[in-house]
Amino acid sequence: MRQKIVAGNWKMNKTLEEGLILTSELTNMIGDEVKNGVQVVLCTPFIHLTSVGKLLKSYSHFALGAQNCHQQLSGAYTGEISAPMLQAIDVDYVILGHSERRQYFGEGNELLRQKVDQVLTHGMRPIFCCGESLEQREQGIHTTFVPSQLTESLFHLDNETIKKVVIAYEPIWAIGTGKTASNAQAQEMHALLRNHLAGKYGPEVADSISILYGGSVNAGNARELFACPDVDGGLVGGASLKSREFTDIVKAI
Ligand code: PEP
Repeated sequence: MRQKIVAGNWKMNKTLEEGLILTSELTNMIGDEVKNGVQVVLCTPFIHLTSVGKLLKSYSHFALGAQNCHQQLSGAYTGEISAPMLQAIDVDYVILGHSERRQYFGEGNELLRQKVDQVLTHGMRPIFCCGESLEQREQGIHTTFVPSQLTESLFHLDNETIKKVVIAYEPIWAIGTGKTASNAQAQEMHALLRNHLAGKYGPEVADSISILYGGSVNAGNARELFACPDVDGGLVGGASLKSREFTDIVKAI
């Protein structure tokens, strides 16, 4: 049985104080209301990680996530954060390859391959984002483009290591736009990616990898999306900033 995961990507939102209030609300509400074995990951800004991590410590179904890390171990990279720094404060997951990082910071598949290695080498799990633009979907090349993102950044990993990676399919046209992929579109791409993983690693390994859907997930559409057989949860942006809505999304699994 694959691990069900709902990860909240706070992006560059919330002061530390606001983030701690949100975390307390979530641990209370999700702790009281959710009994479905889902792993809830809070991916906060870097400066919130230590304090949010302390609040999450006694809740085994919660995990701590960062939103990025640098590909080098240390050195003269002003303003950057390394994987060993995140490991040292007990971060569990690191989002890598979010479309905003690809678009605004020029991150490509080769760089992401290096970041994936750093995260795994330091005992954390990447949430590896992939997804096509609207133009690519309209041209019909999404079915080759998205699998190629996995090939180029992940397929150097061996059979055991790939199992630690969580994949998030996030069509760029659905992120922060209020436009969600239909259940059929999500299921089609998730099945395609699982098949692509099976081609490289075999069906048993592919069946064990959690593939999350991301792109305008909210309390109203989560249940149907999560009911798709190859959708193992969600990566949630805007709706993860509201405790009531995020709790309802977690409950939808
Ligand atoms: C995201 O940032 O990963 C995301 C899916 O955002 P939103 O839910 O706001 O579309």
